[in-house]
Amino acid sequence: MVDNGGMSSPDPLRVAVIGSGPAGIYTADALTRQNREDVAVDVVDRLPTPYGLVRYGVAPDHLKIKGVARSLRRVLEDPRVRFVGGVEFGRHVTRDDLARAYHAVVYATGASVDRRLGIPGEDLPGSVAATDFVNWYCGHPDAEVARFVLDAEEVAVVGAGNVALDVVRVLAKSADELRATDIPQHVLDVLAASRVRRIHLLARRGPLEARFTAPELRDLGELANADVVVRPDQVDVDPAGEELLHAARAARTNLRILAEWARRPPAGRPRRVDLRFWTRPTAVLGADRVTGLRVEGTRIGDGGRLVGTGVEEVLDTGMVLRSIGYAGVPLAGVPFDEATRTVPHADGRVLDAAGAVVPGDYVAGWIKRGATGVIGTNKSDAAATVRALLDDAPALRAARPAPEPADRVLAASGATVTDYADWLAIDAAEAEQASRLERGERVKLPGWAELRAAIGR
Ligand code: NAP
Repeated sequence: MVDNGGMSSPDPLRVAVIGSGPAGIYTADALTRQNREDVAVDVVDRLPTPYGLVRYGVAPDHLKIKGVARSLRRVLEDPRVRFVGGVEFGRHVTRDDLARAYHAVVYATGASVDRRLGIPGEDLPGSVAATDFVNWYCGHPDAEVARFVLDAEEVAVVGAGNVALDVVRVLAKSADELRATDIPQHVLDVLAASRVRRIHLLARRGPLEARFTAPELRDLGELANADVVVRPDQVDVDPAGEELLHAARAARTNLRILAEWARRPPAGRPRRVDLRFWTRPTAVLGADRVTGLRVEGTRIGDGGRLVGTGVEEVLDTGMVLRSIGYAGVPLAGVPFDEATRTVPHADGRVLDAAGAVVPGDYVAGWIKRGATGVIGTNKSDAAATVRALLDDAPALRAARPAPEPADRVLAASGATVTDYADWLAIDAAEAEQASRLERGERVKLPGWAELRAAIGR
């Protein structure tokens, strides 16, 4: 409660946060950790389950990162914060609806779609976005249960970021190694029957330009079920050369790890991961499904531009996963920059096409800054947005002196609104399933029907 010297407290500043991933919940956290304004925060999500990419993005075997959910949970349990599930922005509620019920809206909807390669054959069956594969193995309710069969012996994963590493690990590990994770049982069964033997991880630039972070890269080297193969000539960077001199520390660490792997002889493990740098796909091949991937060597040409060497090769892959970054999706009635796939802003305040502030609208997380950074990056990002919002609080209160009750707006939305207690029912059902199957702490419920059954509607 704000100390206002004994005067009667004004009504709390009402804030809707759209999206309950880390960016949204850190926004709610920052709103409750200040003493300038009394607040009432609704964290709205289209799913009945909170935590966004912590639940449906972080790889299931990254248990420590998944543990972030425990601290996010504390925010949702604050009496000033409410989880409002089952409400989709643009479908159930519009920007105008929210403007009637809240002083401010913070959009924290992330970056939910994949980027595309723009090469022939990209839409053939068997050529998919990593986001689809991740959604499937994380048990996202929108992912079709029977989406993947993993009947190809060779798979190509395109991109040199952490998502590519996640995808490669899930493909390379044995089902036994993944048993104690929260992977839905049907996914574990498909992974147990997987015919995948060889995974090509393709990076269009060199090891110093890869976007891997060192802890995630090291995880790959510790695979018990797969040999990781790096060609020595690809990590043979002149130790006294310009390239290394100008490389960031993280890049030099990556290079050191990769160079060490290049010296290791393969140990004859059941699967093999080939890391190939300076390689880009030029066409996905096949008549009615993927039967190969044509790739071309690359180098840095004039002006620092990446160019093809003209040396081509066909990889015998039956599946191609593009993991080349995520992009934001426009929100109805909210300005959007198609080039960056983000909402334009200044210090988190949404800007219109003319560069003027749109009063009451704010952004946080990937929809604000693009799909970069780790979970913790969202904490300072959200705090910056909340500082701007609190600076604006007097003007926000003046602009909307008597907001409509949020519950009235939500009731009129046509949504089946769920709450935190409903999420706890899902949580309990997942824990119960894990114990019944004698697997770890949780086994995800895989679809909408199962989620609805757990909350009894
Ligand atoms: P990312 O880090 O942006 O990596 C995307 C990769 O795709 C880059 O190597 C990029 O190469 C490549 N790429 C882009 N366009 C391409 C094209 N047309 N052809 C071939 N390659 C192309 O994206 P991400 O892996 O999706 O990760 C998103 C964010 O989530 C990152 O900040 C990441 O660190 C974070 N994340 C963290 C964790 C973790 O901490 N454990 C796990 C998953 C994700 P160029 O550099 O040449 O453009």
